[in-house]
Amino acid sequence: MNDIFASLESEVRSYCRTWPAVFDHARGSWLHDEDGNAYLDFFAGAGALNYGHNNPLLKRKLIDYLERDGVVHGLDQATTAKREFLTTFNEKVLQPRGLNYKIQFPGPTGTNSVESALKLARKITGKESIISFTNAFHGMTLGSLSVTGNSMKRGGAGIPLVHATPMPYDNYFDGQTPDFLFFEKLLEDSGSGLNEPAAVIVETLQGEGGINSSRPEWLRGLYELCQKHGILLIVDDVQMGCGRTGPFFSFEEAGIQPDIVCLSKSIGGYGLPLATTLIKPEHDVWEPGEHNGTFRGNNPAFVTASEAFRQYWSDDSLERSTIAKGERVGEVLQEIAGAHEGAIAKGRGLARGLGFADHDVAGKVSKAAFDRKLLLETSGPSSEVIKIMPPLTVSDDELEQGLQIIRESVQAVLS
Ligand code: PMP
Repeated sequence: MNDIFASLESEVRSYCRTWPAVFDHARGSWLHDEDGNAYLDFFAGAGALNYGHNNPLLKRKLIDYLERDGVVHGLDQATTAKREFLTTFNEKVLQPRGLNYKIQFPGPTGTNSVESALKLARKITGKESIISFTNAFHGMTLGSLSVTGNSMKRGGAGIPLVHATPMPYDNYFDGQTPDFLFFEKLLEDSGSGLNEPAAVIVETLQGEGGINSSRPEWLRGLYELCQKHGILLIVDDVQMGCGRTGPFFSFEEAGIQPDIVCLSKSIGGYGLPLATTLIKPEHDVWEPGEHNGTFRGNNPAFVTASEAFRQYWSDDSLERSTIAKGERVGEVLQEIAGAHEGAIAKGRGLARGLGFADHDVAGKVSKAAFDRKLLLETSGPSSEVIKIMPPLTVSDDELEQGLQIIRESVQAVLS
């Protein structure tokens, strides 16, 4: 990658993603480079492309909107596209789940949603400290970084975990009954420095943290603890929301109703930037203008989002197919893990991973997969997990093709 940009004699600095190809066009689960190579995309913009690249149903609506000169930028203005988004989101997503939230557009990306959630939690409660989790990732701006456990992600910028305390995530419990006793002791001890948190922020499945899936009973325990102690619960569903784990919201299985929910990535449906913060009505204490920004809401993304809700969330077929496809991926990953010591299958829905005890393996598997025309990203604190996140619209044939390449790539690296 660096060589490609260096050959353009540009001033472009190094990139972290090292796929040596220049991509030109994309459709569904496929990316095509300028030399005519087709790659199966099991990265899918880290969850930003749940409905695939240039989804034809959404594209039609977008083209129609642009052709009739629909408003593209309308800062804070009421638009027909925004109204359609709010109506369709309520009708197709919130109401059928018995959820009632006010919807804020905090800025263009996931980290903007997290920032607004943290600020709001502090404003509501008048308290400062936030509890976050080991290996959490919440974004690259300063507030989000302050609740991000992974020191590598904090990027050497000297961002301390100010007013944020990392607690052990569910994967520290090794499948044992979740026990929140120690947590309660900290909350009840005025000398712990932790006794009055404004909020807990949690991912139900840590994507960047290495595909660590929490159990519904752990999440429920956390929710009950928050309720008992008057702590707000923020679920960061930026990566795992919009159907990635099966249901629209990744917390549905646990039967909880968080106080605040952060959504971005696939909420716009087409890979266009859009972020939303869902706020329980009783917590909406923002005054107009208190959380501002030029690019809040994105009308073309409202149009594609509304169509995605209509096409994919009018019934439970996407949820069921995601769960079925995810189980198939899990089966193959178990088979691979069973054949290679130190390998472990992780995840749920179509957020899956294969972790390796030898931390160099995942990067090598990702390279071997690229050579076989499959795009796979790595995650985890030492990039020790290959992350398998195809579009949810991936076909069964494409899924099998990708899984076969994963088998061959692991074999090539470990034999
Ligand atoms: N929260 C989570 C759980 C994420 O995975 C990410 C991005 N990987 C973010 C927040 C930040 O989103 P963005 O990159 O759009 O700012």
